[in-house]
Parts: sequence; structure tokens; C-alpha cells
Amino acid sequence: MKYISTRSDEAVSAEEALLLGLAKDGGLYLPDQLPKPFIDFDQIKDFSYAELATFILAPFLPDIPVEDLRSLVQKAYEDTFDTDEIVPVKRITEAFSVAEMFHGRTCAFKDLALSLFPYLLVWAKGKNKKIKKVLILTATSGDTGKAALEGFRDVPGVDIMVFYPSEGVSPLQKDQMQKQVGHNVSVVGIDGHFDDAQSALKEIFNSSLRSEMEEKGIYFSSANSINIGRLLPQIVYYAWIWLKAVKNHSIEKNEPFNVVVPTGNFGNILSAWLAKQIGVPVGKLICASNENKILADFFATGVYDMHRPFHVTESPSMDILISSNFERFLSYVVCDKKQIVKDMKDLKETGVYSISPEALKRAIGEITGEWVSPNEMEEAIRRMYDDYDYLIDPHTAVAYAVYHKLRRRGEIPRHTHTVIIATAHPYKFPFAMAEALGMKSEGTPYDVLRELEKETNVTIPSALGALEEKEKRFTKTISKDEVESVVEFYAKQLLER
Ligand SMILES: *Cc1c(COP(=O)(O)O)cnc(C)c1O
Repeated sequence: MKYISTRSDEAVSAEEALLLGLAKDGGLYLPDQLPKPFIDFDQIKDFSYAELATFILAPFLPDIPVEDLRSLVQKAYEDTFDTDEIVPVKRITEAFSVAEMFHGRTCAFKDLALSLFPYLLVWAKGKNKKIKKVLILTATSGDTGKAALEGFRDVPGVDIMVFYPSEGVSPLQKDQMQKQVGHNVSVVGIDGHFDDAQSALKEIFNSSLRSEMEEKGIYFSSANSINIGRLLPQIVYYAWIWLKAVKNHSIEKNEPFNVVVPTGNFGNILSAWLAKQIGVPVGKLICASNENKILADFFATGVYDMHRPFHVTESPSMDILISSNFERFLSYVVCDKKQIVKDMKDLKETGVYSISPEALKRAIGEITGEWVSPNEMEEAIRRMYDDYDYLIDPHTAVAYAVYHKLRRRGEIPRHTHTVIIATAHPYKFPFAMAEALGMKSEGTPYDVLRELEKETNVTIPSALGALEEKEKRFTKTISKDEVESVVEFYAKQLLER
């Protein structure tokens, strides 16, 4: 299998796609051909998470010998999650379950991919003798940064820089990043939004600095979901959720289940869509947005329009207007690369593009978009706690609220089962949780965590509790125009090491 850019016919091997992150034409890599559905329930039903991951990833990474892949996957998921189930699926009622994707090292779903991605990248690096160092450049809306830092810290041959919106992440997320340990890491705040950080890095991926450094053996890559190394491991958990939902007696073995995904950069939901293409029986695929509802509007109108206010919400990982992976989905529904190039150019220059009615029809046939207000999100946190004694974080609450909205409107068939994707541990957002639940929200984030623990009996994950005592290492904030020079400085230092 080769990987091909969304904007041209530039095809590369999996290892090159992993190393490059973003294609040199500015597009994103996709498999040149999706494997035909190859998943059979009876074949996979007794697999462990690592076995399932090996089985699903092998066709996508044909250059890695299966035995090697198996050992990488085992290392990735061994002792990095607080449960052997990796992703527990809690059946809440006959109608819906919650897939808990927050049992990794940083308490967010990003851990599922970022526990494995460093191993894949190091493998790819090993195949190319010209590379001295890989410098990972990552923009984060809060969770990717920390998960990537944990995944890459002290990995030989790789350094990582993370850029986060300095006022756009929760206090705990900020602590997680500013207090990161490791000799090969750097964390920088940006005076702006996630989109500013992401765009600045995309510029660097297309810059002369990148080619200059490449000649000297320093390769820039990305840990964002623009990298296929993020996307592919995320396919696995949709098959896992399927197995668990059957075991919980929520569905019959080949019965479709709906999925509601709280969406930002469109990576998670795109993985669900890919899982469906290879044979996981996903029914309705629902893209849930917060007030930054550019995707919901797109699915309603076929117009992607950035001319709108940006809202800072309690679900910061969804506060995104330029949803990168959407370009990948678009390329499947538009089926015309010249058109994609034009749309992306229009987006950059005018802030808007639109697709044809036929393409929109195809898009809506695949994915349903909906959004909810901050009040609906808060109400969803309260409702889940009051009705089922279960805590969900603000991102998951957006998905849960969207689920109710669609169900009320009859858009989710009554007798089908739905899985809400829980993307973060509720305690990553202590203030938002305490406020939604009417509990005391004074003092430091850790005071509020203790209060929440006392009131709800949900234990503080050690990964979060232990932060309180750690020292801040990275407190610098820069403007978005300074990103390139900061990267250049760091990259040049790498040359001297
Ligand atoms: C990253 C993230 C999202 C958005 O996922 P995408 O793949 O970017 O759409 C949603 N919720 C949480 C908690 C996240 O960390």
C-alpha cells in the first residue's frame, strides 16, 4: 500500500508518509486504496487489544514485518494504560454505552494513538540512513501536546516541540504541558488560538527552512492527526468497541451500532469512518460540535465558512475552525483533486469554499453533523450524573447532548444502540465540572479536584494528582509570528548536539 496526497498524485511509502507528516504539496496523505473489508467478527472476537491492533494495522503498514509490528504494538500498549481493557465500554442503558478512551498516560483519547506513534516513527527513521534527528512539531488544542510529549519523551533520535494557545487550554492541561519532563522536549505558549498554532506549523512544513534542515539531516515531522501515524492506530479502537458492545449484549455480532464523536480536527471521526470502510459495522456516524460549529453548518449547507466569531468554550479541544482532517474526508466525497486544491486555496485566501449538491449529498450520506450550546453541554453533564451516577467531561457532554437532540428528533432509530465516545477524563476540566454540577469551584485546580473526589467518589487519576507537586519548566509565550524563528533556533541547536 502506498500513500497519496489529497492534493496531487504524489505517492509515497508508509515510512515516508510517517516521516513527512504533511505532504510537500500541502495536502494530507491517504492510503492510495482502502483495503476491502477484511474484518470478520469470529476471527477477531478473542483478540487482545494488541493483537487486534496488529491485525488491523498490518495491511496499512505492509513494509513492517508482522512480527516487528506485533512487538511495537505490544510495547505501546503494555503498562501505558491503567486497565488491561485499554478502552472499557460501559453499557449505560439498552440504548447507549460510553467508550472510555481516557485510561492512558495523559487521560485523553490521544493516548491511544500517541502511545504507538513514536514506535512507528522510530521504525520509519531507521529505514532512512540520511536522517540524523527527527524534530516533531506539534500544535495542540490541549490534549495532543501532552500525549505527544509523553509518547516521545527521551526517545533517542527524536526531539519534540509543542505549541499551545496560552489562554485556550484548561489550567490542568497547561500544568500537564508546562511541567513536562524529558531532555528532548520543548513547550511554548502562543498568544492566539489553536488555528494560529496549526497554521504557523503548516507554513513551516512548506518552508525553505524545512528543506534546508532536511539537507542537514534534521527532519521535521508532525504528531498532529495530519500524520497517518495518528490516524491509523485510531481505527483499531472502533473494532474494539464493536467487540465489547457484542460482549456487553448491547448488539448482535453483525448489528450496526451508531457512534457519536466529539469533534475538533476531525481525526477521531475520520478513523471511525475508515473503520467502517474495512468492515466494522458502524451505523450512523455522528459528528458533534460545540459553539464552534463550522462542521455542523457545513453538513447543513455544503459551505465551509470561516467568517464567524471564534468561541473559547469549556471543551477547548473542539475550539477549532480549520479542521485539518476534513480535507481527507472531502477528498473521498468530492473525488476530484483539482477541486480540492481550489477549495483549499479559497479557504486560505477568502476563508470560504463550497461543494456541489451531489458531493454534499454523499457527505451527508456518510456523516451527520450537529452542535449544541454551552447550556446544553452543562445540562448533559448534570443529566448523566443525576440519572446514571456517571461523570462525563465537557467534550463527551457535547456528544451526549447531540445524541439526545438527534434521538428526540427521530434521527437515531429507536432500536439501535449508540456508543458515545468519551474523549477525556472529566478531571482534566475540574472547574467546568464543578460549575456544571453546582459544586465548590474555588482555589487551585487541585483543590477543586479534591472537592469533586469527595462529592462524587470518583478517584483522582494519579497522572493528574501527581502534577500538583511538580515544577514548571516551560512558561514562555510567543506571538504566532515568532513560531518559525523559535523552531529555527531549536533545529539549529540540534545540529550542534
Ligand atoms: C482532540 C480532542 C477532541 C477532538 O478530536 P479530533 O480528532 O481533533 O476531532 C475531542 N475531545 C478531546 C478531549 C480531545 O482531546
